Amino acid sequence: MDMPVVPNPAALQGDGAGCHSGKAQMLAAAKSAGKSELLQQYAADYPKGPHDQPQSMCPAFGSLRVGLRMRRTMTILSGSACCVYGLTFTSHFYGAKRSVGYVPFNSESLVTGKLFEDIREAVYAQADSAKYDAIVIINLCVPTASGVPLQLLPKEINGVRIIGIDVPGFGVPTHAEAKDVLAGAMLRYARTEAEAGPVAAPRNGRAGKPTVTLIGEMFPADPMVIGAMLEPMGLAAGPVVPTREWRELYAALDSQVVAAIHPFYTASIREFETAGRTVVGSAPVGHDGTEAWLQAIGNAANVGQAQIDAVKNRMLPAIKGALARMPIQGRITMSGYEGSELLVARLLVESGADLRYVGTACPRTAWSDADRQWLESRGVHVQYRASLEQDLAAMREFKPDLAIGTTPVVQAAKEACIPALYFTNLISARPLMGPAGAGSLATVVNAAIANKARFDTMSAFFGGTGMGDKAGVWEGLPQDRPEFRADTRRQVIKLMKKRKAEEMI
Ligand code: SF4
Repeated sequence: MDMPVVPNPAALQGDGAGCHSGKAQMLAAAKSAGKSELLQQYAADYPKGPHDQPQSMCPAFGSLRVGLRMRRTMTILSGSACCVYGLTFTSHFYGAKRSVGYVPFNSESLVTGKLFEDIREAVYAQADSAKYDAIVIINLCVPTASGVPLQLLPKEINGVRIIGIDVPGFGVPTHAEAKDVLAGAMLRYARTEAEAGPVAAPRNGRAGKPTVTLIGEMFPADPMVIGAMLEPMGLAAGPVVPTREWRELYAALDSQVVAAIHPFYTASIREFETAGRTVVGSAPVGHDGTEAWLQAIGNAANVGQAQIDAVKNRMLPAIKGALARMPIQGRITMSGYEGSELLVARLLVESGADLRYVGTACPRTAWSDADRQWLESRGVHVQYRASLEQDLAAMREFKPDLAIGTTPVVQAAKEACIPALYFTNLISARPLMGPAGAGSLATVVNAAIANKARFDTMSAFFGGTGMGDKAGVWEGLPQDRPEFRADTRRQVIKLMKKRKAEEMI
């Protein structure tokens, strides 16, 4: 087992203490500072792909957001001021309406171990059970690389649970998986509490029927739609993980069947499996997805085939009808980093879209395998751990009528006069499940595809104005300076050779 050791100042040396560079040094520093067991677990839970570094926002945002959305929970960050600035800015941009705690540090407090004492002091000062059920402390890159030992904090102070987690960009690839880091840590804590004795009942009392816990952040109507589909089978929708309140964790663990709607919650699923629960992958999307999911859930919950068939007979024609009423016509490529990409892809295909490529920043797991097989059997290329370069290459190869993607993909598409939609804001924030999800994408997708002519008009009007190096607002016309470029290039090559030579010493 890793023993906590004194913080490692190496993490702050040189010009590279951050996600922009210096990943190798930070990883090495973290290992020498007693975090290698944790990093091994992350490497197993969140396997890397063609790129081994986040290409989206800072991963810690996922954990921070989960903490900020929970009632009676305080979230404290420990990290560089620039990281904390970005993370708090993004949190408030997404409407956090809650303070984020911050324990600042400098080289001295990091190196001497005073930072850990400062964190402990901050936690004691905040731990008030009248206000909080839990306090979450998140180590960002530098404190993780330096080995700040959050595991040495008391598990409970004044009746408030203390959850310390490390969420470094060099160990957790996406913000989606960072949600799992915190959700998994909370489930583990709650599981040990439930094993030790009676725990608080849900706020609205226990459901009279067996429940199905749902894993993954969804459009608010989706759990209700799922609940309506489960009801005729004598089941009810249980809590959604990540939960919005501590006591929901107990209710989530209480369900015999757990639906991994989002398939990347590896640590959370480990907790459910340790508690002896049955986990079912995929989700009730479209006709085929709903049919397979209802069957799998019914089997896992020991529901009789007649009851399963009855609910299928009610739901599936309604879904088929909704899909037929709202067809999508056009070639599409799609990519995102939310983890629901394959589910959206299934809906697009069932709506009639000519979908060629779906890229997800999340890793391949058993829980999305049925979706992958279904899509591949229909000629869709599925790319797990997709890099931005792969997403862009797919767009260039397939020349779609619509590119759905992340910000840089959408930018590149619009530059190429291809209509584009943001996956996160415009596509994943819609109902996807059951009859409500069928047809919900068509309006926005068809409207975007119909915009192609406007792109062509704009492109013809502006021509090459403000393209490339000339983009922006200038007083005079920017002049090309090829000699400056050549000089900088020479210097960069020299620097890289020097670094390589130093590495070999
Ligand atoms: S905490 Fe986030 S923003 Fe800061 S260095 Fe790490 S990955 Fe980058």
